[in-house]
Amino acid sequence: MISEIDEINDLLRNGREINSLMRNSDLLVRLEKTYHFLELKEKDFFRCIHEDDGDFDIISDDQRRCDAEIEIIPRKVKYVCPQCHRIIYLEDKKFRFKKYQVAVMEKNVRKFIKNSFKDSGFKYLREGSLTFDQEKFLFYKFTCNSIEFGVSVMNKIPDKSLLDWIEIYSSPIIFVLFDSAALSAQRILEGRKFRFIDIGTLVTLEEKNKIGKLLDLAKKCTTETKIKLLSSLPNVIEKLENREIDYYNYEQCIYVLLKFMLDSTDKFGNSHICKELPDGFFTISPPKGKQYGFYVYDCKFTGEKRKLTSSDYRAIYDYIRNFRTSPAVIQSNFHDIDGFIIFSHNLPIGDLEKTLGHIRSYSMRDERNPWNGKLIYFETDSLILLAKSFFESRGEFERRKTFFYDYLNLFLHDEDLHQDTNIKKKGIIHISKDDIRNMIELILQKDPEEQRIDTEALLEDLRSRGLISSYSGITVDKQPKLELP
Ligand SMILES: [Zn+2]
Repeated sequence: MISEIDEINDLLRNGREINSLMRNSDLLVRLEKTYHFLELKEKDFFRCIHEDDGDFDIISDDQRRCDAEIEIIPRKVKYVCPQCHRIIYLEDKKFRFKKYQVAVMEKNVRKFIKNSFKDSGFKYLREGSLTFDQEKFLFYKFTCNSIEFGVSVMNKIPDKSLLDWIEIYSSPIIFVLFDSAALSAQRILEGRKFRFIDIGTLVTLEEKNKIGKLLDLAKKCTTETKIKLLSSLPNVIEKLENREIDYYNYEQCIYVLLKFMLDSTDKFGNSHICKELPDGFFTISPPKGKQYGFYVYDCKFTGEKRKLTSSDYRAIYDYIRNFRTSPAVIQSNFHDIDGFIIFSHNLPIGDLEKTLGHIRSYSMRDERNPWNGKLIYFETDSLILLAKSFFESRGEFERRKTFFYDYLNLFLHDEDLHQDTNIKKKGIIHISKDDIRNMIELILQKDPEEQRIDTEALLEDLRSRGLISSYSGITVDKQPKLELP
């Protein structure tokens, strides 16, 4: 015997055919009249062959095997059987019967789902959305005792890419399944550890059990999401490598890679430190005797070659100034931005030099204490390479975490470590793939038991091994010239 839950899931499908026997079943009537989840479209049919019909006697024995059922279309008198292809006139058809077809009233189903959560004590916040591949994925946002999660109504089998992105965005989501999803999406969602409930279960749960069940789902989906951020890393790397990203989700992909390696990474998001903010920041505690370690980053998605324009110079400078002058920042542990990182695919170095020139002159003009941090161009491919190595040799990296931080900090701060001969200006740092290869080699050859690195000794060591050279061809701007735009 089929359970009531399965029966509801089975009935609530668009186009589901109902025969006249089932038409008046209690459950169907309840879904139709009490819940208003569905309407029934009535349709008239005839059979290609029926003994009551006027054309029965003229049909050969061979043709009588056809069992086609044909829908009667208003005002249509002549039909061709889709099975045996014979021509049929409606006036011959005495035997007719009705069939019913389910039309799901999706609006009412959604309303019921939303109210089920509301009635269980969750506070409805608003409709939320994630945008990827230029498509919007909508969900209802709820909260309860600081648990925040989304409820998404799913009516068809979710595609892999959608689930990948939900993981990448690490949004806690409960899926409520109905229509074909209620019959076939469970295994896919279970395999990827998503939380869900089908409409049949939701309808049949008694009120007191419902609250417990939904609370349990909410708790599980929020705690598991944090773990999922890590498991989504290979997906993020794959999407970035294959450039399956767009303006909307580039930032999130960069965030996931950074967060994986640097726990201090955070997004500015909706915090109200100051009006204009870059995408995020991270901190690295500085090596011995050094004072830098606070980095702000902004992602510039470059689908095709993008140049930095005067509005970019201005925006970057505004970020820096707003941040430096914000009371919340002044009172915090961070006194200044040591580096402003731009993540991007292919920025021309000349643009970066121009940008830094403008930032320095704006800063000279506007601030008592001009900004002296570095402008860092971190190539997307360099970040992918670093994250991939970190992922593949996780254990090795974890055991040498302080070395990793120290080296990364140095590479983000010290021009001496870079050999990009195209750079003619001090203050610009370009993190290339070669830099990352050098850094990884340095980290992995370290004995984990060793003390933290000594910066001076490191630089000496690198020089002696020919990994870096002394400055050549770099103009040092001790006092930047005032260049007005
Ligand atoms: Zn036929």
